[in-house]
Amino acid sequence: MKLVDYYQDAIKNGYALGAFNFCNLESLKGILNSAKKNNSPVIVAISSGALNYMGDEYVREFITASKKCYDIPMFFHLDHGKDFEICKRAIDLGFDSVMIDASSYEFEQNVALTKQVADYAHKFDIQVEGELGRLRGVEDEHISTESLFTSPQQAKEFVERTGVDSLAIAIGTSHGINKFQGQPKLAFDILEKIQNELPNFPLVLHGASSVDENTIHELNEYGGKIEKAKGVPKEMLNLACTKYNICKINVDTDIRMATTLALRKFFSNDASSVDTKKYFGEVQVSIENVVTDKIKNVFNCQNRA
Ligand SMILES: [Zn+2]
Repeated sequence: MKLVDYYQDAIKNGYALGAFNFCNLESLKGILNSAKKNNSPVIVAISSGALNYMGDEYVREFITASKKCYDIPMFFHLDHGKDFEICKRAIDLGFDSVMIDASSYEFEQNVALTKQVADYAHKFDIQVEGELGRLRGVEDEHISTESLFTSPQQAKEFVERTGVDSLAIAIGTSHGINKFQGQPKLAFDILEKIQNELPNFPLVLHGASSVDENTIHELNEYGGKIEKAKGVPKEMLNLACTKYNICKINVDTDIRMATTLALRKFFSNDASSVDTKKYFGEVQVSIENVVTDKIKNVFNCQNRA
């Protein structure tokens, strides 16, 4: 099955595929070990920063090796490609799917760039995700959240004109560790309007880590200094994939937190160790556990066909 087929299956059966970001061997194996144990399809996401960090040739070999070593449906996906060149670069490296994020441009420019990437990618049977609306970032705090939401009418026009296979929408989530000023709130009314305009079309939620309170507490207990932290409650994510057409949910911050906590805990319990394989091994297990929690308890992946 292709990724678009999984998206349709996810819409039909009320689950979402997790898109988990990796930046090294530990995170890659943590994600894939979990998907294999849970017999779940998985999207492995690489940001342009992670691509530059690992290096193109290493990423190319990671993709080949992963597909050789794990007999599960996996899709390597470029997260937030900002221009045509990086999307082309990812396609040349063997990615299965790319995101072109031209959401910071005006509508017409977003349409033009997204269509350019979609036309190119589709020649190679590569899936394309576009983005419309803006996720609130730290720099956007002075802007009212509503003005950043995806417009349902524009969403329909955007999809028709660009030919994208899926669409990332803005309904109140944001990137990073502190996602909400007050109480967490997602605009499910906007989501409903978007899917009324685009029936059965795959929708994607970014900035969707849960930033577990206990993990924050533990991070600080083991020497961290994280003051403001708030994620998207699991119940909201679960609702988004069971009752709505959200069929891909991105997770990065929760993986970063799991990584950091595993290391903090290890060194606080064993200050004399220099056994790198031991503590990076714990990082891997810690990531695996976070991914398993998402797959089983939040994204309903057991509903898959
Ligand atoms: Zn994102």
